[in-house]
Amino acid sequence: MEAFPMAENVLILGTGCAGLTAAIYAARAGLSPLVLEGGQPGGQLTTTSEVENFPGFVHGVDGNELITNMKGQAERFGAKFAWDRIDSVDFSGPVKKLKGGEGTYEAKAVIIATGASPRLLGIPGEKKYYGGNGVTTCATCDGAFYRNVPVAVVGGGDSACEEALFLTRFASKVYLVHRRDTFRASEIMVQRVKAHEKIELVLNVTPTEILGDEKVHTLRVIEKSGAPRDLAVKCVFVAIGHIPNSQAFTPSLEVDEGGYFVAGANTVSTRVPGVFVAGDCADHVYRQAITAAGMGCRAAIEAERWLAGH
Ligand code: NAP
Repeated sequence: MEAFPMAENVLILGTGCAGLTAAIYAARAGLSPLVLEGGQPGGQLTTTSEVENFPGFVHGVDGNELITNMKGQAERFGAKFAWDRIDSVDFSGPVKKLKGGEGTYEAKAVIIATGASPRLLGIPGEKKYYGGNGVTTCATCDGAFYRNVPVAVVGGGDSACEEALFLTRFASKVYLVHRRDTFRASEIMVQRVKAHEKIELVLNVTPTEILGDEKVHTLRVIEKSGAPRDLAVKCVFVAIGHIPNSQAFTPSLEVDEGGYFVAGANTVSTRVPGVFVAGDCADHVYRQAITAAGMGCRAAIEAERWLAGH
């Protein structure tokens, strides 16, 4: 891709709920934003199945469909899309400079909505079997490969519960493996998991190793007593949260100890005038599709005001 000789009004990084909502608002304000789709176009909603809690959909909506519609809506108002992943930034001057693998970009205002990537367990065997051999972070993507065999999901949040429930469509049995005996997940999800005949809860255990030959055959965990326990499974679905994608922007922007962008009282303004953040890269509290969309809206409105004032 050629470098853009003229600075963009607004450069938006990321095409999850936050980035696309920012794109809709910025485009509708006549700013013709350039939107860069990064490592995971569409963001985390593209790896989920049914979204039941996005307002406006009585019977839920498919995650991919929601994202596709948001993108179409942004395009309708004049947003431009390109693919690149930003590696480094120079926010020292009035025009922000960003360098990616495909080109360099200049923009008067930047909205960073780069989301978060799945956290991994970091135990032996995990890397070896990651991908097609029995370790994954996406039940929607890989669940159908594990028909009529036992699988494990690791985690105690909404994602782990959602993945476990989704996997019951395919697997013969789903072990839900969690390090505590109370869940971070919402009560409705916990109740569904507990009620499902195919799901067995394995609580108060720590996963220590993933074993296999060509492919995974065992998840080894250690119980609180110190006793090891082997679960015979063909796949381990890791659902233990996410790490914000903020690395390329430090030290220009401030991040907290978890790597989340630190923003001002309006939740989207950074310490660099004209640079805004939105969505899961900047929100360690709510982390919902609708709150990400709300932050994208705020960021675009703030960017519009900032451009008007400069
Ligand atoms: P999360 O809420 O942060 O939960 C992560 C889970 O993984 C926790 O139970 C945590 O255990 C466990 N964990 C973390 N590190 C671990 C490790 N090294 N070893 C073993 N277990 C580990 O993450 P999430 O489930 O991905 O959810 C993220 C956000 O998205 C939440 O706000 C959630 O509500 C939202 N979400 C909503 C829906 C929905 O509404 N349908 C669906 C999916 C996600 P501890 O509990 O012991 O810390």
